[in-house]
Amino acid sequence: MFKHEIAPFTKGAAKSTTIGLLAGFSWKNNSNKIAELFYELGKYKMVKAYAVFEPKGELKPFEYDPGTLGHNEVEIDVHYCGICHSDLSMINNEWGISNYPLVPGHEVAGIVSQVGENVSHLKKGQKVGLGWHAGYCEHCSPCQSGDHNLCGDARSTIVGHHGGFADRVRADATSVVPLPEGIDMADAGPLFCGGITVFNPLVQFNIQPTDTVGVIGIGGLGHMALQFLNAWGCKVTAFTSSTSKQDEALKMGAHNTINSRDPDALAQTVGRFDLILSTVNVKLDWNAYLSTLKPKGRLHFVGATLEPLDLQVFPMIMGQRSISGSPVGSPANIARMLEFAAHHKIKPIVEEYPFEQVNEAIQHLKSGKARYRIVLKK
Ligand code: NAP
Ligand code: ZN
Repeated sequence: MFKHEIAPFTKGAAKSTTIGLLAGFSWKNNSNKIAELFYELGKYKMVKAYAVFEPKGELKPFEYDPGTLGHNEVEIDVHYCGICHSDLSMINNEWGISNYPLVPGHEVAGIVSQVGENVSHLKKGQKVGLGWHAGYCEHCSPCQSGDHNLCGDARSTIVGHHGGFADRVRADATSVVPLPEGIDMADAGPLFCGGITVFNPLVQFNIQPTDTVGVIGIGGLGHMALQFLNAWGCKVTAFTSSTSKQDEALKMGAHNTINSRDPDALAQTVGRFDLILSTVNVKLDWNAYLSTLKPKGRLHFVGATLEPLDLQVFPMIMGQRSISGSPVGSPANIARMLEFAAHHKIKPIVEEYPFEQVNEAIQHLKSGKARYRIVLKK
């Protein structure tokens, strides 16, 4: 059940708390009580969001009642929210998991406005971010191993839960990560999904500064990958289908660029890469990419390509090459990534739109002209 369906219990709870606060109330010398009353009333304020109501629909203003804050939850006043290609895929129900009305937005940067009574590591007024996950089971083996992003019962911020295209968003405190010194709220949102998704494989696969790495697709994820990999010390190649992005890719940290759709250019790089990170959601000539890997090299998918892979097995067997994929990253790795980004002054390159222009922003992403991440601003 969506939380926007106002539960009678929630309304009753609001009313009885308010009556409780008013009982014995005298308007003299009661500033604390007045503040408390406004706080209690504020807790039941409707969330003002933008939602789509059908696959491929327009975003329209939408209000929902968030109900009572859970003991383990926090509420965030959203200041910025990045737009990831996954928001577009969810709006269009490309993955068959969308529920409507759907409030997208899972690259949130904002300020904690409420904390549940069991939450001790986050405080009201703290600057934080929220990414793809809004909660984990916290007791399965992956959770207990620190791999929360692999939890089978992880809750997504925008699947059966309303996301960050809103004035406020709620999530379990475990999935909310404080912004360290050196990360501005204006730059933070895209790091929480796009950024961690391309940083996480470097940690998971123990990528070395001596490694040669290729990034396919220089969009929201890809442009952050170039920056992370350069700072990590790797030799970096940007595979792009857009000639207009080549010079910018070099400025972001690539040492050279290759046309991602040119078979001749790929043929000239046979056996060169330790890792290739694909951020595209389209079908490319994956066998050609497989041949560009060194022995023990890895072709790693973070881009959600829907078409099945048609790969030759022999190059994998003979060179012990691997194919893999991964989802975002754990809260601990998000914190690690933020520290790394702050230290190396890594920032997404963003185009800001006011929240009210969310439909124009989505059109801009669809057009393929975004440079490089679109961020909605309060
Ligand atoms: P994006 O900003 O739209 O970037 C995708 C890039 O793919 C484009 O900029 C383009 O780069 C390239 N591309 C697009 N169409 C192409 C085509 N026909 N041929 C060749 N290249 C093409 O998207 P994003 O936000 O970075 O997301 C990328 C993918 O990652 C999406 O599928 C998204 O759902 C997925 N994702 C996965 C995770 C995860 O946890 N694994 C997390 C976040 C996002 P060039 O112009 O350089 O060619
Ligand atoms: Zn995302």
